[in-house]
Amino acid sequence: TGKQDGLAETLKQTTPKRQMATKRELTAMSKVAIITGGARGIGASAVKLFHENGAKVIVADIQDAEGQALAEKLRSKDVSYVHCDVSNEEDIRNLIDTTVAKHGKLDIMYNNAGVLDRAVGTILDATKADLDLVMGVNVVGSFLGAKHAARAMIPQGNGCILFTASACASIAGLGTHPYTASKYAIVGLAKNLAAEVGRFGIRVNCVSPYAVVTHMAGRGDMDEAGGKVEEMEQQLSALGNLKGHVLKAEDVAKAALFLASDEAHYVSGLNLVVDESLSHAFATFL
Ligand code: NAD
Repeated sequence: TGKQDGLAETLKQTTPKRQMATKRELTAMSKVAIITGGARGIGASAVKLFHENGAKVIVADIQDAEGQALAEKLRSKDVSYVHCDVSNEEDIRNLIDTTVAKHGKLDIMYNNAGVLDRAVGTILDATKADLDLVMGVNVVGSFLGAKHAARAMIPQGNGCILFTASACASIAGLGTHPYTASKYAIVGLAKNLAAEVGRFGIRVNCVSPYAVVTHMAGRGDMDEAGGKVEEMEQQLSALGNLKGHVLKAEDVAKAALFLASDEAHYVSGLNLVVDESLSHAFATFL
């Protein structure tokens, strides 16, 4: 009918435009992003991925040599390194202010820096020093990063704040008590903040991985093609990981990229667990 022809004509006209819009939103971020803990591990993967997707990236870390080496390796004026101890408010203030002074805005603040305590299991073994360590970096660092990012983003009327929490903030028994408490605190902070700053056009989300091959997990020496990864795969399979292969830093970075992109423009207050269903399957398979 004439009506159907009209619809087909409309689809023909609008389809290419829609496809272009999707591509632009996914690939050409052209955004300014700070990634804390960006010198190594998950943060370093996010630096590379965000850069490949058109973002100007500021790598913030205390591992100066590695952070600078990463920025140099990417050979781009759009990637720079800034020394920043996330537990130090002056460092965070300086990080945010120099970024806004240099780039004129801050689109993405990815609070990813984190530390593990001594990874000793029971409540009787855990000490206040363990708790102070993880709270001082994971929680204080996330809080300060979020607070000073919000200071820059509220006047802009837009922005995206991300945190790296952990799958241990979804299921009991995956992490030590201090570390788990610190990661639950981050999820709580993210959700509370999302409820507050949505009215300013700011989205707030968490990415929560399970075990990833990085320095933190004591696996910084692992070669992805090497035998140790196989060993770890076997351990994870025994825990009930359904697909039985090891989560990689770039898999976590991809989840962060989605949340940071305009494709996620309606997603806020989410804790996106990236664990191949382990936190659901754990109880069933043990
Ligand atoms: P990683 O040790 O490879 O990287 C952590 C980075 O944070 C390092 O570059 C380190 O120098 C930096 N950092 C530590 N303290 C800092 C501070 N005070 N100021 C600035 N930077 C600091 O570990 P990763 O696995 O890439 O960890 C990244 C995030 O992922 C952390 O928040 C961690 O808790 C979380 N996480 C990791 C795993 C895992 O299995 N690796 C699982 C769940 C969550």
